[in-house]
Amino acid sequence: MKDNYRPATKIVHAGAAKVKQGEAFNQGPVFASAFHLSGDVDPKAYQYARFHNPTWEAIESGLGDLEGGSVLVFPSGMAAVAAVLTSFVKSGDKILVQSDGYYATRAYAENFLVKFGVEVIAVPTLSIPDQDFSDFKLVFVESPSNPLLDVLDIKRLAEKVHAADGILAIDNTTMTPIGQQPLRLGADISMCSDTKALNGHSDVLFGHVATKNESMLEQMLLWRKLSGNIPGPMETWLVHRGMASLDMRLQRMVNNAQVIAEFLQNLSSVKSVRYPGLKEDPSYVIATEQMQHYGFIISFDLGEKTNADRFLKKAKLIIEATSFGGMHTMAERRARWGTDNVSPGLIRLSVGCEAVEDIIADIALALEG
Ligand SMILES: *Cc1c(COP(=O)(O)O)cnc(C)c1O
Repeated sequence: MKDNYRPATKIVHAGAAKVKQGEAFNQGPVFASAFHLSGDVDPKAYQYARFHNPTWEAIESGLGDLEGGSVLVFPSGMAAVAAVLTSFVKSGDKILVQSDGYYATRAYAENFLVKFGVEVIAVPTLSIPDQDFSDFKLVFVESPSNPLLDVLDIKRLAEKVHAADGILAIDNTTMTPIGQQPLRLGADISMCSDTKALNGHSDVLFGHVATKNESMLEQMLLWRKLSGNIPGPMETWLVHRGMASLDMRLQRMVNNAQVIAEFLQNLSSVKSVRYPGLKEDPSYVIATEQMQHYGFIISFDLGEKTNADRFLKKAKLIIEATSFGGMHTMAERRARWGTDNVSPGLIRLSVGCEAVEDIIADIALALEG
């Protein structure tokens, strides 16, 4: 794929095969566990399907064009997180995770890395810019953070982490490679849970990592091959099919989110709204600099748990679910998990592709009386 094509073009043509006369230009999934392999092992041939699969390679090459690096796919976002957290550290190393980022990332590090002698330090997003990174082997953070949508200056962070000889990995799930390219901002690794907006149809778990660093790629490839954390060809193909519409879906979702955030801001029943696209939002300036859009996630505070529960119950269109990035507008009261340190009335709203007038009418109805 030519590098000067715009992302909207790249995503439609992502990983397209060069086909001969009469061949389908959308190649189907290759279902195989073994490939014919005779004689001495040919390093260029497909050997065994835990090592490689043409269906992975098609989506990996398409995602690589968007990320600006080489990509490896995984069966879930957490498998991609685990590849990053497990591949580079050894006993005695120190890593930094976000105390207000995706809970399972922190929990993986604290449950599995700590017992092998890795020191795990959790730092709130807003304290990360002032952090001293000396002796940190790996810094793993998401920007915007979720659910509170604080944004980190990735370029500055990369400079600081590199000055201390560390590795910077960015969880880019909320933005997708269409909305932000961490490698182009200086991060070593970009990771994404493709379960969310990238696949976008709320029907598959999937994830990927991207890097320009050959030795990091080799390490994570070895981890995937030896741990067996590999996606099935059918899931891979479904995600590849789903992602062709990513740019279009995002355009609708992001435009809807802007309108909804401005609407929520003017309601007396809403105590506060966080959306990086609001000019008053603390994330606005840096988001404008480093992101191509402001995302489709809004968090807003209704104060009490009972207010949030009533809102979710009364809404007819908005689906209560713990995920985001799908075509359907989804919401949940984040404090119900007990894992995020947020207000009991905080709603995370993932704005979908419906007509914005209908979502607004549903919000108005759900907030009535
Ligand atoms: C969902 C999510 C993950 C984990 O992805 P799964 O596909 O659920 O394993 C990681 N990071 C962020 C920010 C997420 O939202």
